[in-house]
Amino acid sequence: MSKKAIVIGAGLAGLATAIRLRLRGFEVTVYESNTHTGGKVTEFHRDGFRFDAGPSLFTMPELVDDLFRLAGKNPSDYIETEQLPVTCNYFFPDGTTLTAWSDPDKFGKEIEEKTTDSAESVHKFLKKAGRIFELTSELFMKRSLHRLSTYTNKTAWNALIHLPEIDTARTMITAIRASFKDPKTIQLFSRYATYNGSNPYQAPATLNIIPYLEHSRGAFFPKNGMIGISSALTKLAEETGVKIELNSKVERIIAEKGSVKSVLVKGKYEAADVIVSNMDIHYTYHKLLPDQLWPERTLNQPKSSSALIFYWAMNKSFPKLDLHNILFSPDYEKEFEFLFDRFEVFDQPTVYIYISSKRNLEDAPAGKENWFVMINVPHNRGQDWDKLVHHARKSILSILEQNLGEPIEPLILSETVLDPRGIESRTSSFMGALYGNSSNNRFAAFMRHPNFSKDIKGLYFCGGSVHPGGGIPLVLLSAKIVDDLVREDHDLP
Ligand SMILES: Cc1cc2nc3c(=O)[nH]c(=O)nc-3n(C[C@H](O)[C@H](O)[C@H](O)COP(=O)(O)OP(=O)(O)OC[C@H]3O[C@@H](n4cnc5c(N)ncnc54)[C@H](O)[C@@H]3O)c2cc1C
Repeated sequence: MSKKAIVIGAGLAGLATAIRLRLRGFEVTVYESNTHTGGKVTEFHRDGFRFDAGPSLFTMPELVDDLFRLAGKNPSDYIETEQLPVTCNYFFPDGTTLTAWSDPDKFGKEIEEKTTDSAESVHKFLKKAGRIFELTSELFMKRSLHRLSTYTNKTAWNALIHLPEIDTARTMITAIRASFKDPKTIQLFSRYATYNGSNPYQAPATLNIIPYLEHSRGAFFPKNGMIGISSALTKLAEETGVKIELNSKVERIIAEKGSVKSVLVKGKYEAADVIVSNMDIHYTYHKLLPDQLWPERTLNQPKSSSALIFYWAMNKSFPKLDLHNILFSPDYEKEFEFLFDRFEVFDQPTVYIYISSKRNLEDAPAGKENWFVMINVPHNRGQDWDKLVHHARKSILSILEQNLGEPIEPLILSETVLDPRGIESRTSSFMGALYGNSSNNRFAAFMRHPNFSKDIKGLYFCGGSVHPGGGIPLVLLSAKIVDDLVREDHDLP
């Protein structure tokens, strides 16, 4: 008889874990409290416009493809993905605009023309970041950091021998300043710390692998929008025989004699040999394991930033804007001080605009656009969000007017707002942090919760709040790590 696995939560990590365990022969049920799968990767429709509600940038699509290949399927039968010719359009406060071409030579030329830095400096920087990726990805992203077996092989020794090259001793900003002299290039490369909700003035330079991944491996867009990722994985899960139960909030994880026994869901105890929680680790302990000893030190690590998003149906099309656009703050250092030290919202924030209708024409009526306008904000510490949202809206509109040269408010046909409170309540993300813990110190990678429980046999954890961290690629890797651990622990082939 097959062993039974229960996955709590149908976020991308939960779906990927369910698929992997099913392919390993487990009978798998996913319980999801929402009425939809995908967790943060979701969408909504309003007045003829479609909006991706959560993530907007897709890197490392091969990690999604891997799941289809593992199941013996062709990924392109489920998800069509294109590499973007332009990864982002940048607008600087002095009026300079810069196009980040995905072609490295074109991008280098653009940097040379628009800044005082050379194409050569860009290539050198990305090459070094590529080397960091090569040294770290196997050890720090694809394996559990909390098992001895991770360190007893050649890959680990290679990474440890080359530790200085991994650049953990410097901050991101120090390494970027050492490579570039123009404040615009420095700002452009510093912004990648926000991809995992961190601060470039504190996070280790190792995180410079993020611009490497975007510039050297590419930024992608799934046809039909980001929702295409969760729909494709949901379909694959169902086809492989995973049972997905929506509207099914798990209330407790039950353990007996140091091993998992069952979960309490909809008033019934459902037994399992393996239980994987895709729920935020803080809430997993606080809500599902109230009687266990909580790993307070790990749970209390500083959290990543959150987001404030205005979804605007726009009554006009803006040729100046592309799929991804960044309108930079005139004082980046202060913006991060507000985010991570003061936990307030800066009144001259960097504004990000994602317009999926630029590539997916059906997402907005002809001549109109679906704007996802986001600023980074602190995680939820009980701030007066109604007041902050009101002020931020005003600042954003003024920044957009300055950059686009016309009043924006009269063009807004409808508005939907998401702030850290909503992010927290919709997916149980502790404090509305987008990426679990921040990576604002060099030990952060080791302070994330392991992918397994040290106290309860058969209990595992996947998703953005545990190792290796948040963001679509990393949560998919957390599923792979859990699968490897289950294989190791259950002596499976
Ligand atoms: C606004 C926003 C923008 C982002 N932008 C990007 C981006 O551009 N690129 C990128 O790579 N990443 C981005 N991210 C981060 C990315 O979305 C997440 O890291 C990733 O989707 C998290 O997936 P997950 O599986 O860990 O968790 P989640 O998506 O949070 O899924 C957890 C699931 O568990 C369910 N659940 C919780 N508790 C229970 C319970 N008790 N019982 C049953 N089910 C439960 C929840 O309902 C949810 O469906 C963004 C996130 C947000 C919110």
